[in-house]
Amino acid sequence: MRQLPLPKGAKALTGADAATPTSLGSRLNLLIGDRRRLIAALAACSIVSGFIEAATLALVAHLAVSLVGQARHGSGAGHTQLSLFNLHASEGTLILVAFALCGLRLLFQVPLSILPARIASDVQARVRTELFDAFSRASWSVQSGDREGRLQEVMTGQVMQAVGGAVGMTGLITSTFQFIVLMVSAILLSPLAAVLVGSMSVGMFALLRPLRGRGVRNARKLSAAQVGYAGGIAESNRLAEEAHVFGAAGAQRERIALLVSQSQRFFYRAQLLTRLITNVYQSLIVLLLVAGIGILYLIGGGHAGSLGAVVLVLLRAGMTGQTVQSAYQSLIQALPFIERTQNALLGYEASVERSGEVRLTSISTLSFDRVSFAYRQTAPVLSEICFDVRAGEAIGIVGPSGAGKSTLVQLLLRLRRPVDGRYLINGAPAENFADADWHRQISYVPQEPRLLHASVAENIRFFREIDAAQVERAARLARIHDDIVGWKDGYETIVGPRADAVSGGQQQRICLARALAAQPQVLILDEPTSALDPQSEALISASLLAIRSDLTLFIVAHRMSTLEMCDRVMVILDGRVAGLDTKAALQRDNPYYRNASRLATAGQGS
Ligand code: ADP
Repeated sequence: MRQLPLPKGAKALTGADAATPTSLGSRLNLLIGDRRRLIAALAACSIVSGFIEAATLALVAHLAVSLVGQARHGSGAGHTQLSLFNLHASEGTLILVAFALCGLRLLFQVPLSILPARIASDVQARVRTELFDAFSRASWSVQSGDREGRLQEVMTGQVMQAVGGAVGMTGLITSTFQFIVLMVSAILLSPLAAVLVGSMSVGMFALLRPLRGRGVRNARKLSAAQVGYAGGIAESNRLAEEAHVFGAAGAQRERIALLVSQSQRFFYRAQLLTRLITNVYQSLIVLLLVAGIGILYLIGGGHAGSLGAVVLVLLRAGMTGQTVQSAYQSLIQALPFIERTQNALLGYEASVERSGEVRLTSISTLSFDRVSFAYRQTAPVLSEICFDVRAGEAIGIVGPSGAGKSTLVQLLLRLRRPVDGRYLINGAPAENFADADWHRQISYVPQEPRLLHASVAENIRFFREIDAAQVERAARLARIHDDIVGWKDGYETIVGPRADAVSGGQQQRICLARALAAQPQVLILDEPTSALDPQSEALISASLLAIRSDLTLFIVAHRMSTLEMCDRVMVILDGRVAGLDTKAALQRDNPYYRNASRLATAGQGS
């Protein structure tokens, strides 16, 4: 089988992905957000814990030296002087103090564990909520421009990697403050050794910069590869039936295997670089310690306890430095994921359209005044469309495929805005009216039924406040009630994609019931019967005939028989209105309509 070109992930930027790249500060802001207090508390705990650790280490070193001295001279326990703290106390007391410090440090591990966990889980929940919030408010043109599987991947995989950045950030805060405190303590104990060792640690950190840079570039490719992979999976899942029918499952497997191996390559590199940088740094730490001892040897002398303390503190600072390094690396390798997540967020947010404020209690006219529309900066798909439709009229829309009928429906539904011209409701610009009122007054049945994986009742309600009586009323109007009560679980029967068998006709009638449940004033149908069996078609037509007098109807008709219930018919040819009149007038004056009627009649006769 012929292979398709692979999805390009980040290179195929569309819709929300195409947002402007964000600055480092704003990317970090996604992690910090309103968690500044938690972060400040984490920093404070890290500083205190660092000081406790340094004091404990200094104390232990002095105690060890004192005890070794006593063992050598055969004397019993006595008093020792801590030069650093200028204290005199018995070893026993100092051991108790060391225990107390250890206990205190142990206590600090509680906030030092809770705070990072809180910050990371908070980032995950907030980013996911904000992202979906932004997606659900985004305009239909941005939502529909999203590549398949992208939202799922951003909401799951990319957010998880971004949260890895939050974990890195908290680790970086803790370890950096601990490192600074340990270095300050080391400076107090032996300034020269500490400054030299400190600058060597920073030098080592700088030395590893190119490797970290490669890590970030690789993470960017991994992020894009994962979006491509998610798109491939979503598409394969949607087209599983076709893959069986066309024997394309093998080719599909090959395609996914390629996407998997692409991701694997970048994932392998990410793992390798992380380990390489950590291991190199770890080895250099030992070198640092040797350097520290060398420095102490060169500068010579000093109190044995202080020397022991400085070695201990420097060793610990070196280990903390390693944690700084790996936390920093986790953070910067998460930046491409944060950037993609943030770009999605910004792209969705930028497309949000403001609702008008004028209340809309009834619709008496719907008019297009020279409305034009283009999907991109190419030739317009609809040009200078003009019409006035009064409440209660039934308008059929006909025209060849690609003429612009579905686009016109999307404009009528206000899913897309005219590029030029005005959409008027009751003579006023459509955008003046409150969205909530508009959604109550207008309804839609798409060409293909789309159900939730939920009960029939939930599918008819579709997240709106609609009681059981209204659900049943709508189901009766849509001629699906008798079918539903015949099912074992009645209105609680679970339907939806890949749920128990519900025929295409039944699905379409559930969608019609959904459209009628809120008792709208305007109903728009995109030829809901074109793919149905004759019985379902007859039931839907009967339903439409029954409700027809209570509604303003727009029906995109692929079959001329659908036009029977229409008062007027709009003929769309090449993005323009080529006729809008009664069937009789069009039969007389409109060549396209006449020809379509003739073909339909000939089809019936044959
Ligand atoms: P019809 O419903 O009459 O078949 P459509 O409104 O679907 O026609 O399409 C009209 C034109 O707009 C076609 O040329 C089609 O290729 C183009 N078009 C439709 N949808 C999109 C889209 N989402 N992006 C870009 N072009 C589109």
